[in-house]
Amino acid sequence: MLGTADEGGLRLEASYAQLPEDFWSALPPQPVPAPQLLVANDDLAAALGLDVEWLHSPQGLAVLAGNRMPKSAYPLAQAYTGHQFGHFTMLGDGRAILLGEHHDPQDQLWDLQYKGSGRTPYSRGGDGRAALGPMLREYLMGEAMHGLGIPTTRVLAVVATGEEVLRQTGPQPGALLLRVAASHVRVGTFQYAAAKGDPQLLRALADYVINRHYPELRDHTEPYAALLETVIARQAQLLAQWMLVGFIHGVMNTDNMTISGETIDYGPCAFMDHYDPQTVFSSIDHHGRYAYGNQPAIAQWNLARFAETLLPVLAADQEAALDCANAALQTFGPAYRRAWLDGMRGKLGLVAEDDAADQAMCDAYLELLHGNHEDFTNSFLGLAAALQTSGDERVDEDPWYRGWRQRIARQEGGSAAALERMARHNPQIIPRNHRVEEALEQAEAGNWEPWQTLLTALRQPYQPSTVPDHLREPTPASLAAVYQTFCGT
Ligand code: AMP
Ligand code: MG
Repeated sequence: MLGTADEGGLRLEASYAQLPEDFWSALPPQPVPAPQLLVANDDLAAALGLDVEWLHSPQGLAVLAGNRMPKSAYPLAQAYTGHQFGHFTMLGDGRAILLGEHHDPQDQLWDLQYKGSGRTPYSRGGDGRAALGPMLREYLMGEAMHGLGIPTTRVLAVVATGEEVLRQTGPQPGALLLRVAASHVRVGTFQYAAAKGDPQLLRALADYVINRHYPELRDHTEPYAALLETVIARQAQLLAQWMLVGFIHGVMNTDNMTISGETIDYGPCAFMDHYDPQTVFSSIDHHGRYAYGNQPAIAQWNLARFAETLLPVLAADQEAALDCANAALQTFGPAYRRAWLDGMRGKLGLVAEDDAADQAMCDAYLELLHGNHEDFTNSFLGLAAALQTSGDERVDEDPWYRGWRQRIARQEGGSAAALERMARHNPQIIPRNHRVEEALEQAEAGNWEPWQTLLTALRQPYQPSTVPDHLREPTPASLAAVYQTFCGT
């Protein structure tokens, strides 16, 4: 196994620090006065080959809190820029520190990164710290997405700091987390390299990403064009997965979009209850830029920014480079629609027949949901339930249901095969906004029972037997009307 063997099963290296120093600043986390381990992700630790006992020991806590560095750590903050709500800004890890890159037992490399670990050269006006609520929220959302089979960063542990942080709503208990990612290289990291105006930096970053994430592209005749195409394909897949479960990221700035294709930076994200493409929860998204239905187009916009950064290395002359970038960008739409349609077929229990007809059936269903203000997640479970009964009155009332039932009936395997498909594509549970808030509120008050119940169910969303009924209910209308999410600041 690679990496330097260290305490607790850590096997660290510091490949990012091999990049030119423009890309990072070396500094350790700022110590916290009274660390307390609040949640530890034992399953994740075990999968990473970490020692679970160490994780829960005083030695482990000192590392999780950022109060002591393992011998092989080379802590650093990463530089990046990004388009925030369309506006280009100099950013960087303002409250995050990379502890190191850990080799798991399969020799896969993972970033271990603190969030809320104190000020860095990129903090701008911020305090570098985080409040407990948003750190617990990131843990829960990451586990939910992982349970749903969607690529995501995950949290290894949340530690209370014993300090308070001052936020808009007043003083809050402080916390930090340690998260695990395939890497933290973002579209914004490439924008940073491009903004420096030195093609050598750009090439160094692109080579780093190819080596780390897409080694199969190393021998490609046009590795950078292939990188662009691959990232576009990954993001098209990811966006389809988000849309199929009603996930709204909330702040799809270019600095919050990874090159690895993982969901990252859980701030104001939330899941949609009733189907409405215009759904927005984020308190700062006044114009609905990052509304549910806008997400695929925004992803494409972000990928266009990524493509622009690569222009100097895509081809020898600029016209050829532009052609190459445009051709790659045009693959996003078809790739996204294919992945989405495949997923929707699964949700409706359909076996592919005819793309245009299937698309029309899916679109008509969503229109029905929209018009009837129906819950997105539960509606598919309702369809499956109806398929198991003979007397479905909706068949008489609505032509869509009639058409759908007829289609299932003439498919190979009939209802039984459709039900089996539907069970694999329709989660029994998503993190409902009111249940997430309840779990966080109670946990902050010291009662971890709702948190544990919710977390357990979210980790197995395709298992009907593990979901208590109260976790299936949509957010009550009175609450849904005023529900807002906030950036993790
Ligand atoms: P986000 O939208 O949460 O991904 O954050 C955008 C940028 O703001 C990133 O560069 C963060 O590092 C930075 N940032 C967010 N909160 C803080 C904070 N409390 N202190 C310093 N920087 C922060
Ligand atoms: Mg961010």
